Amino acid sequence: MIIRLVLGDQLNIEHSWYRQESQQDYVYVMMELNTEVNQPIMHIQKVVGFFAAMRHFAATLTELGAHVKYFKLTDHDNQQDLLANIAQVAKDLNASSFEYQLPDHWQIYQTLKNSQSVLGIPVKHYDSEHFYATLTQIAAWGADSKYQLMEHFYRMMRREHHVLMEGSKPLGGQWNFDGDNRKKWKGDPPIPDAYSANNIVENLVEELQHSNIKTFGSITSDTFIYPIHRDQALAQLQHFLTHNLAYFGSYQDAMHTQHTLLFHTNLSFALNSKLLSPKEVVDAAIAHYHDHSDHINITQIEGFVRQIIGWREYMRMMYWNHYKHFTQSNYFDHQEKLPEVYWTGESRMHCVSQCAQNSLSNAYAHHIQRLMILGNFALMMQTDPKAVDDWYLGVYIDALEWVQLPNTHGMSQFADGGLIATKPYIASASYVQKMSNYCQSCSYDPSTKTEENSCPLNSLYWHFLYINREKLSTNPRMGLMYSLLDKIDETTLKSIVDRASHLIKVRNL
Ligand code: FAD
Repeated sequence: MIIRLVLGDQLNIEHSWYRQESQQDYVYVMMELNTEVNQPIMHIQKVVGFFAAMRHFAATLTELGAHVKYFKLTDHDNQQDLLANIAQVAKDLNASSFEYQLPDHWQIYQTLKNSQSVLGIPVKHYDSEHFYATLTQIAAWGADSKYQLMEHFYRMMRREHHVLMEGSKPLGGQWNFDGDNRKKWKGDPPIPDAYSANNIVENLVEELQHSNIKTFGSITSDTFIYPIHRDQALAQLQHFLTHNLAYFGSYQDAMHTQHTLLFHTNLSFALNSKLLSPKEVVDAAIAHYHDHSDHINITQIEGFVRQIIGWREYMRMMYWNHYKHFTQSNYFDHQEKLPEVYWTGESRMHCVSQCAQNSLSNAYAHHIQRLMILGNFALMMQTDPKAVDDWYLGVYIDALEWVQLPNTHGMSQFADGGLIATKPYIASASYVQKMSNYCQSCSYDPSTKTEENSCPLNSLYWHFLYINREKLSTNPRMGLMYSLLDKIDETTLKSIVDRASHLIKVRNL
């Protein structure tokens, strides 16, 4: 008997493993580990989503005639340790060898790489057959400085995989339509209903409540809308293509109080658990675009494709090539606690409270809410990047370290000193006003900086630039910001710095 490990984020039923005829020779081992969901504390929907999808996957394998050994969280024989559980199964079945698919998690990879000495049987690994890029390619690109910039990486991926290309030229004559991705949503076009898989998970929620797992956030049948098996994930993809793709690119950066998703896909859980492959998603979107090019323009499809073969693959490359730096760096030496609003959703700042509440209720926020509201605020409040990383890893249903860490630690907190982002993503109230309707119903005034009711983002923004002058002013992308800072008169600057220092100390705004 050969043991094959299936991790919780390897729910890819299309993998070549399952196409082999001699399934009788294998036992597939899956496990729920409290070590995976206790540290950091996780959103209830994230634990439920992964466990429900894993249990469904195990049932599918069994239906296909495969042997499955599934350790539930509270099973008495679950030793809550990956290798200990595998070793036990290997002993019980007198297994001849152990096989695994390459994991996406750096630490789990180290454990599995060294598993032969613990298990005492031959060990073999396979590709997970999920991503466009292999780990060998990633290692080679790591040595090549030209792919460290996302735009260069993205163009290389488009060429290499012939995505949206006309011969050697980008379709539409431009690589990137980013400039057309910044429309504010003002009530039209109408927002389609979100896809909901309507899964019943009450039993699992109850089971977790009776276990030793602590979670945060909420779950209801209205908010747990995620797919837990492939058919649902395919339906979710179809829903996006039919209803949202036509406006995806234009409103990618928009935010609105009444609409969490706007035209976003909400496909990240299906992708990261591997219910869907990025290639099938990109291929389906491009086919849909060609079939509907009378009303879907290039801006929409390019904006979408860029997220998947650009950002998603790029972040993974950066994770594998710079893992240690991401886990250890703290460029601005920020040491403060995460403001309470991230746990409670309560703040007078409407933008921050909306995005935090949304995250706590749905285990979801879209990219700009994560980057320009929650990330921006945490950064300018000088929050310890480790605390920010832990919160992001816990709260979002799609958060797996390989994608969360470079996005949060790098892109949003600039704690890596600029490996991912060419400048820190910071914004004052004018950006929030431009891209959303949050300020309309906020008790703070977005137009002033130093009054009692001035939007905190305004003083925090100039304060951030002021105190980090040494680290940032020589950055060519920051030149304009510093020239504007230099135009602020001394008295006003002092009031700004005083107010921001006070806000950073108070923290509950
Ligand atoms: P859409 O906007 O519909 O985009 C389509 C798909 O593109 C997404 O499903 C996702 O797979 C991919 N994508 C888009 N942007 C990125 C990106 N920057 N990195 C990787 N993939 C991307 N994404 C995660 O999957 N897991 C995370 O833990 C995560 N943490 C983030 C933390 C911060 C601070 C920021 C700024 C971004 C983070 N992202 C993360 C990226 C992005 O915010 C989410 O992928 C996206 O919001 C998921 O919602 P969606 O499926 O509706 O995305």
